[in-house]
Amino acid sequence: MTLASPQPHHKAKALRPNAVRPAKALCSECGLCDTSYIHYVKDACAFINQQIGDLEAETHGRRRDLSQSDDLYFGVHQQMVVARKQEPIEGAQWTGIVSSVAIEMLNRGLVEGVVCVQNSADDRFQPKPVIARTPEEVLAARVNKPTLSPNLSVLDLVEQSGMKRLLVIGVGCQIQALRAVEKRLGLEKLYVLGTPCVDNVTRAGLQKFLDTTSRSPETVVAYEFMQDFRVHFKHEDGSEETVPFFGLKTNQLKDVFAPSCMSCFDYVNSLADLVVGYMGAPFGWQWLVVRNQRGQELLDVVQDQLKTQPVMSQGDRKAAVQQSIPAYDKGVTLPMWAAKLMGVVIEKIGPKGLEYGRFSIDSHFTRNYLYLRRNYPDKFEQQVPDYAKKIVEQYKLPPE
Ligand code: FAD
Ligand code: SF4
Repeated sequence: MTLASPQPHHKAKALRPNAVRPAKALCSECGLCDTSYIHYVKDACAFINQQIGDLEAETHGRRRDLSQSDDLYFGVHQQMVVARKQEPIEGAQWTGIVSSVAIEMLNRGLVEGVVCVQNSADDRFQPKPVIARTPEEVLAARVNKPTLSPNLSVLDLVEQSGMKRLLVIGVGCQIQALRAVEKRLGLEKLYVLGTPCVDNVTRAGLQKFLDTTSRSPETVVAYEFMQDFRVHFKHEDGSEETVPFFGLKTNQLKDVFAPSCMSCFDYVNSLADLVVGYMGAPFGWQWLVVRNQRGQELLDVVQDQLKTQPVMSQGDRKAAVQQSIPAYDKGVTLPMWAAKLMGVVIEKIGPKGLEYGRFSIDSHFTRNYLYLRRNYPDKFEQQVPDYAKKIVEQYKLPPE
């Protein structure tokens, strides 16, 4: 399938790096405003004009079916599967499925470039978006930069390069803005490989988190909040450090998450063709959501490199989510950490697989719903999608 009805690109002058962005405090630094595509910001910005439902219909051919639980939670999909690479890529965030798909798409000539994010020469966590044209350049982008990253800042370069077939890797807010301008990029074919994303931070916020949590902040190369309710830090020497959520210094980390991430309901990257995360998978595996035919094509190119198994679901999340809600209402921003602090023996009642995914979505959506209601009442109606309202309605919330 090629891109339907390309549209002309009306350019505007990109903003200077330190200028206030149109979404103001809610800006997630997605990079659109660093390009001439800022012309479309009022329509495209995920924090000015949340339009996931309409864009789902355009991108996948239908909106999510709110009466169907997996659709409600995980978005439009053709299939979900659990996988890991038979031979993991060293230094990848998990087993490197994302990098492998991108490399294979280049090797097979299916795309000419891949938008992904490397790090700057002097700081492994400072994001540096690039258009990779070789497997080496894709590999140099492996592992999460756990900070807000202006991935779309390279969009003008796409046009200048004359590329017609492109793969973009990104998180939900980046992909929402991308979908809004995709017909103006002059492409014949666009593939989108997304990751879930939640609780992101600025570079300064990341430093505060590392300094207060890790025994050796300067040697951390990667970290992840895992399904065993611990933060897992990987260090330069290959060692692993785990810190239980309840051991985190919540008082110092109270305002660490970016306001954009506290106002976001697109945890599962609804508009990507293929999503690769971990939250719906058993510990150690990756969770793949194929949303449409392009997503299937992305998965097909690495199928012979994967071990797979069906998705599973176990446990019951609801009591744990409900018990945490009073803490969010008091401004505690750390969902799962709070759950632990509330004395919920979550490991014993153990949501696993898709139920862990639902636990994490419910926790973050109820927290963000209360955050928006309290801090941005004027934006509330526009910013909360109908599926998120339906998810939150399952719980008893404090009165306004
Ligand atoms: P790799 O092969 O290591 O490739 C990682 C890719 O991520 C690279 O191509 C790179 O371009 C891209 N990337 C790195 N940093 C960023 C960034 N800041 N913005 C956009 N793209 C980036 N999964 C969950 O299931 N639950 C979560 O809560 C969750 N939170 C996440 C938060 C962030 C900020 C990010 C970037 C990812 C998150 N993920 C989450 C996805 C998960 O951590 C892995 O990235 C994913 O499973 C792919 O692993 P991999 O080994 O295949 O990736
Ligand atoms: Fe611009 Fe992106 Fe910030 Fe919105 S989130 S104001 S589109 S840079």
